[in-house]
Amino acid sequence: MLKAADAEIDSMFGRRTLEGRSAIITGSTSGIGLGIAQAMARAGAAVMLNGFGDPAEIEGQRAAMAEENDVDVAFDSADMSSPEAIRMMVARAVARFGQIDIVVNNAGIQHVAPIGEFPAARWDAIMAVNLSAAFHLVQATYGQMQARGYGRIINVASAHGLVASPFKSAYVAAKHGLVGLTKVVALEGAEFGITANAICPGYVWTPLVEQQIDDQAKSHGIARDAVIRDVFLKNQPTKRFATVEEMGALSVFLCTSAAASITGAAIPVDGGWTAH
Ligand code: NAD
Repeated sequence: MLKAADAEIDSMFGRRTLEGRSAIITGSTSGIGLGIAQAMARAGAAVMLNGFGDPAEIEGQRAAMAEENDVDVAFDSADMSSPEAIRMMVARAVARFGQIDIVVNNAGIQHVAPIGEFPAARWDAIMAVNLSAAFHLVQATYGQMQARGYGRIINVASAHGLVASPFKSAYVAAKHGLVGLTKVVALEGAEFGITANAICPGYVWTPLVEQQIDDQAKSHGIARDAVIRDVFLKNQPTKRFATVEEMGALSVFLCTSAAASITGAAIPVDGGWTAH
């Protein structure tokens, strides 16, 4: 899948479409963020990785991404729940790359519980990482995008930014909020060459989903296969998970000049889920 997607991206955009651009991608040590970072680096952008994980493993990913794509790749461990850490990450990225052209707000966490039992601390944490972090990162980078007349803001929302499911109050509220923030930034940035769009994935096979499959299999006492078929892919008409390569390809496209008129959009990449 990766090889086929890479070949297609190469032929669609040329290998160095984003040469000279630099990107901060939050939550890019894993899953969708890592897929987007790989696609951007492959397209020639300098990349600031961010997220949690094993330092040696992250350093291995960083070094390989830089070497394979002949681009500058840095890593910052800023906690997206801290506005101060976000501002410091931006300062380090500007010092290293000179400017920030692309911001991908992707870091996200989840907690599933009925509203009556939903822990207030989890609500606060999800709001901070899934919504407020995007505000702080946009605020810290917007001015220099405006001054240079180019900016691409990509917010990784979710199908749950468009529709709801039970037991995901904080996640659904934060992702709907992120779609709203996207529209406001799009309107404010429109005259300055800045676009802002939300990508709204359905279920994508990543560690976040892997964890939920295990949890649900345990709590319902059913097999993993049944959880995948009857819970996760029930409403996803393609009956397969979306891929991180698909998220990467769309993100690269949104950064091209061909996508300059796509702004304020919430783009479902959900195998038809929200078409129901
Ligand atoms: P993941 O768990 O594989 O990756 C999450 C990333 O965020 C990791 O790099 C992690 O270290 C980082 N992170 C978590 N908390 C952080 C914090 N406080 N500060 C900095 N980094 C932090 O998850 P994923 O499935 O790749 O999800 C990425 C985004 O896509 C999330 O916003 C998620 O809501 C969204 N999404 C995922 C799916 C899916 O099916 N996987 C569907 C729709 C939307």
